[in-house]
Amino acid sequence: MTTSSQALLRCYDCGCTYDHGDRTRCSCGEPLWFDLDVSGFEWPAETNQETGRDPATAGSWRYDAVLPVSAPDTTTLPPGSTPLVRAGALDSFADCGLYLKPEGQNPTGSFKDRGTAVGVAHALDTGADWIGTVSHGNMALSTSAYAAAAGLECAVFVPADIPSERLDLLARHDPHVFRVEGDYGRLYEETLALNTDGDAGVTFVNSDTPLRVAGQKTIAYELLEQFRLGSSNVPSSPNMPSSSAVPDAIVLPVSSGGQASGVWKALRELTRSGALADDDIPRLYFVQAAPCDPIATAFREGREEVTPIDADETIAVSIANSDPPSGTRALTAARDTDGAVVSVSDEATREAMDRLATDAGLAVEPSSAVALAGVRKLSDRGEIAADESVVTILTGSGYKESVETEPRCRDIDLADLEHELASVVES
Ligand SMILES: *Cc1c(COP(=O)(O)O)cnc(C)c1O
Ligand SMILES: [Zn+2]
Repeated sequence: MTTSSQALLRCYDCGCTYDHGDRTRCSCGEPLWFDLDVSGFEWPAETNQETGRDPATAGSWRYDAVLPVSAPDTTTLPPGSTPLVRAGALDSFADCGLYLKPEGQNPTGSFKDRGTAVGVAHALDTGADWIGTVSHGNMALSTSAYAAAAGLECAVFVPADIPSERLDLLARHDPHVFRVEGDYGRLYEETLALNTDGDAGVTFVNSDTPLRVAGQKTIAYELLEQFRLGSSNVPSSPNMPSSSAVPDAIVLPVSSGGQASGVWKALRELTRSGALADDDIPRLYFVQAAPCDPIATAFREGREEVTPIDADETIAVSIANSDPPSGTRALTAARDTDGAVVSVSDEATREAMDRLATDAGLAVEPSSAVALAGVRKLSDRGEIAADESVVTILTGSGYKESVETEPRCRDIDLADLEHELASVVES
């Protein structure tokens, strides 16, 4: 078994390698990722249902051949195995053949569980008692829950202005929460420095660290395997847009750039192993909320690097990072795959969120709906063609927080039950 403490870390940008498993940054300043030998990778022969019964290969552990750690014995919350849904009802809205990957179905309601599981496995491997993260939402919840399941202590650093409902959600798993007054970007980097330079005794698994990115790449392995097998949970039908075994594009929201990096890493590994042909590499499109879009801004301006911006408030709170630590890596990923980084207005996000809920039955948070709004924008601009198939990653569940909308209900008297119902049914 390879463990993360033995595996090599590499800089995507300058190629420098390091062998300290807890290091997260290259000396050039860019983020590192694991450099594993994936040359022997083949798509698993058994179906997910067959392998999924074994905790060692359940969920995203199915791809443990390409992960720096194996499933711990205490795996009680395997992440992944979310369905790939063919969403024909939204094709005309998206103006392409739309597939959805609802990551809200992970144990704590977001894709963050994929990366957390790998971070927790590494902490157990190295005998650490503590795991930590810097987050104001999904990652804090995910890390707290997985630490609880693994019997680890958990330190969560949250910004001082965190809404109290989110603290309540976290409190269920009883982590040690530190509410921090001060710059969030610096807090993020200073906790990572503790991993390598300090002896705080806490493994920090922040959003773009090598362990987390390794876990997050499983989403791309999984969706490409599902697409290949046509294993959408909606039966394939004549309106299947494409007979290709690979989607033309993958669209996802981007904040720190960790998830975007993971998806790109997966595509690079799959082409290196021969499991994906060079001609078949899906274009990667990343979407931001217009009020806070440093990566889209750099893309639009043709810049080589992402720099911090002065951001405004957005309803897409989970992706409001004005100083993204893996922003430049995400920018590079979009360019490398002939994709793009775009931003969408909060109004477009609300509309996409509404369509997902009313036409596809999927409640997602605004930070996920930006991806569908992005698909629509890219179709409008002619960057996505009507006959192309596009997988949109819906990163998180919409059932955690309410988004204030007009109440949609009728107030009736019990005495008028039948009459009131009939008036709706007949209309
Ligand atoms: C964390 C998160 C994102 C952004 O992921 P990054 O890896 O930080 O780019 C998007 N959507 C949701 C729901 C998230 O929780
Ligand atoms: Zn470097």
